Amino acid sequence: MHVKNGIAVSPGIAIGPAFVLGVEDFRVPQNYVSVAAADSEITRLRCALDNVAAEISANEALAAQHLGKEYAAIFGAHLQFVRDPKLVAEMEQRIRTLHHSPEFAATQVLRRFARELQHLGNQYLAERATDIFDLERSLLRHLLGEQREELSHLTTSVIVLAHNLTPSETANLNRKFVRGFVTEVGGSTSHTAILAGALEIPAIVGVGSFLTDIAGGDLIIVDGDQGKIIINPDDQTIALYQAAQARSRTNTASLQARTDVPAETRDGTRIAVYGNIEFPDEAEHCRTRGADGIGLYRTEFLYLGATRERSEEDHFEAYSKVIRNFPNQPVVIRTLDLGADKVPGALQEVFRDITNPELGLRSIRVSLEYLGLFRTQLRAILRAATEGDVRIMFPLISSLAELRQAKMVLADVLEDLEEQGIPFRRDVPVGMMVEVPSVALLAEEFAREVDFFSVGTNDLIQYVLAADRSDPSVAKYYNAADPAILLLLRRIFAAGAKVGIPVSVCGQMASDPKFVPLLIGMGLRQLSVTPQSIPTIKEMIRNMTLAEAEDIANRASSMELARDVEFFLRGELRRFLPDGQA
Ligand code: PEP
Ligand code: MG
Repeated sequence: MHVKNGIAVSPGIAIGPAFVLGVEDFRVPQNYVSVAAADSEITRLRCALDNVAAEISANEALAAQHLGKEYAAIFGAHLQFVRDPKLVAEMEQRIRTLHHSPEFAATQVLRRFARELQHLGNQYLAERATDIFDLERSLLRHLLGEQREELSHLTTSVIVLAHNLTPSETANLNRKFVRGFVTEVGGSTSHTAILAGALEIPAIVGVGSFLTDIAGGDLIIVDGDQGKIIINPDDQTIALYQAAQARSRTNTASLQARTDVPAETRDGTRIAVYGNIEFPDEAEHCRTRGADGIGLYRTEFLYLGATRERSEEDHFEAYSKVIRNFPNQPVVIRTLDLGADKVPGALQEVFRDITNPELGLRSIRVSLEYLGLFRTQLRAILRAATEGDVRIMFPLISSLAELRQAKMVLADVLEDLEEQGIPFRRDVPVGMMVEVPSVALLAEEFAREVDFFSVGTNDLIQYVLAADRSDPSVAKYYNAADPAILLLLRRIFAAGAKVGIPVSVCGQMASDPKFVPLLIGMGLRQLSVTPQSIPTIKEMIRNMTLAEAEDIANRASSMELARDVEFFLRGELRRFLPDGQA
């Protein structure tokens, strides 16, 4: 058994066999063969090795002919590995004495060898590990033939382990069979992480290099609460985690019984707790967990994973589905926030040459550049708005000119609908995300031109602290508890109060229990959080007084280091958490 640590991004515990992505989606079951079958299985392995060798020789000849001898030499190295008597003997021995299937034996031996190469401290040899993975892929293709199982065709429950998953890949994970996932890269507020929360599967990102330690079929525990991945756990650990799973089910059930009780502090201040969603289906999850409405609908996910252009009707249907769950409560529909790590297949070309995607053509900038896309969406929102309390929100606004331009397009679309005699709602409130430092600094000026603010701390933090939200190598620089962030938040909340517009926080910071007393203490009265965290956050609010929250905010604001703020908030958290979670 061994344990790896990463960044916990979606809570819960999952236990199941590993499905290692990156080997062409092969899943290698930890199969065993009978003693009697050992000879025939060894013959099958040798046959597959011969076929792989023949394939490599053919490629070698082809490379020599077209590219020259030096390039052909690459294949020579591959051939050497396939013919390495030590490696082959070890695979055969595993089949004979440990009764491993040839697939399992091959994966175990080749991955161990790759790991040894990576740890020799020599760059050249470490890179040869890639050759071993290539070889593993070819060998598995020959051994498994048509039986290879793809992520899109899963038939049993698995834990997906990958170097990286794009937001589109994550959005398409089959919830029925993918029990959890772990990636080597990724940051706490990357969109892949946010999607894991939306899919409600335990997930860990940013573990660093670990895939070479794992073979498909190894038993894995994903501890999405602590950010721990346990590989081949012993019986005692499995029992501990099974008990924790049962406890968590009981806690969820007891919180669920109080979902209808409003989030009001012990001294009577009402806090609105809205849900963040990426897919229309999630609206129902928010409703059943007691949300006061939808505070952030990330509509761009309508495009991710889609193979065709989205029509006005596609938008309209998705929005109507969400509104039907909250006919009398606010539903904030954010216009497309495409770009950066959210690039749909159909628009790859548009974003291909952007050198710095987080600072490039992204979000409202895309909408203002591709007006057809923007207008289609605005029409659908205005039409759907007749069915409920819909609000429009523009993402990533960075200047007043840009905000005014977006509002002008909206006014133009309103006129079109009017002229065409199509039913729509005219008085839809218009708000904006506060997630670019320029807006936080001039918050009062912006507040005078919109109906509400929603603070996107995920982006605000990365732009203020110059630390990519998706990059685990700078995770230590990306910190919501940084005094600069607290100062800006106070400034934004104060601007909203002075001008008289509501302010909410919809970034992940609001879903993190330790920041909830701080935010409320700094003056926040509306939070928009991940659906899973709604019951816990409402219960915490019911457990606190405003005076306690204000005291926490004042003490945190007097600290100089993010580390101290974080430590302090963690310590204060216990007294507000629901029973069973403290
Ligand atoms: C944010 O930036 O905090 C936010 C809520 O938007 P997104 O995570 O979609 O960028
Ligand atoms: Mg954002």
